[in-house]
Amino acid sequence: MGSSVRIGHGYDVHPLVEGRPLILGGVRIDSPRGLAGHSDADVLTHAIASALLGSLALGDLGTHFPDTDLRWRGASSLELLAAVYAMVKERGYVLGNCDATIVAQQPRLAGFVAAMRANLASVLEVDSDAISVKATTHEGLGAVGRGEGIVAQAVVTIVFVA
Ligand code: MG
Repeated sequence: MGSSVRIGHGYDVHPLVEGRPLILGGVRIDSPRGLAGHSDADVLTHAIASALLGSLALGDLGTHFPDTDLRWRGASSLELLAAVYAMVKERGYVLGNCDATIVAQQPRLAGFVAAMRANLASVLEVDSDAISVKATTHEGLGAVGRGEGIVAQAVVTIVFVA
């Protein structure tokens, strides 16, 4: 028997490099460097997608979307998130809420959070108040604190509806 409410956790990290756009939660952010990766490397959206997979014990993102799959090369990660959410809905669940944290030493992200929440809420078919996005620095500590990459973590609940 399945539970009516399940929880999932997701974690992702991508390196920051020259010559790439910085996209977080589907929002393009003005930055001299962006995240490296196979898709658009949207670390926030990947963490949320990973949390959704985790909520149903469906494995990790790399299993479902291998970086050898040309379909996702340079793709918007919002499309990847939509594909993951379709798997959740196929199993009778919908998103309850999501709480995510971006850990980035720079740039400052506060001004972009509302747009990220709106994008994610649109894909996940909920109101923005079901999507929390927080941003923090790493207080200068370690690789993330030196600005070598950006980390995102997310927790989601999903609710059985059918
Ligand atoms: Mg990733």
